[in-house]
Amino acid sequence: MFTAIACILTAVVLLYIIGVRPKDLPEPQPVSPFQHLDERKAAIYENLRDLQFEYRVGKLSDVDYQQTKKDLQKELAGVLAEVDRVREQLGAGPAKAVAALPAKPTKFVCPQCEAEFEKDLKFCGECGKPMRKAEA
Ligand SMILES: [Zn+2]
Repeated sequence: MFTAIACILTAVVLLYIIGVRPKDLPEPQPVSPFQHLDERKAAIYENLRDLQFEYRVGKLSDVDYQQTKKDLQKELAGVLAEVDRVREQLGAGPAKAVAALPAKPTKFVCPQCEAEFEKDLKFCGECGKPMRKAEA
């Protein structure tokens, strides 16, 4: 009787250890957000190829072929839309950071005396001669 209980306890403990262990393992490396989408896309393409093959060898009726093809293409469109969505989300961060950079203050330099002004003046505030833009 006692042995039986010990056996059951051991079994329970073993099951507990086996069940818990995967959770104790370190988190797997973060995969690319596109990976599972790429895998799904590849699977759909493969299904489409198989479908076409089966249709060509006469395993499928016209109706079955058209219906399954339509379903697969719909699924594929969904996956492609998801890829676009993820790409947009990823692209939004860096694009925003670039746009948020402060604009370089433009300076206007007098061609005569090289005095610098923040504003585009018609005449130099230092020497009074006509100001011209640097690129002009
Ligand atoms: Zn000047």
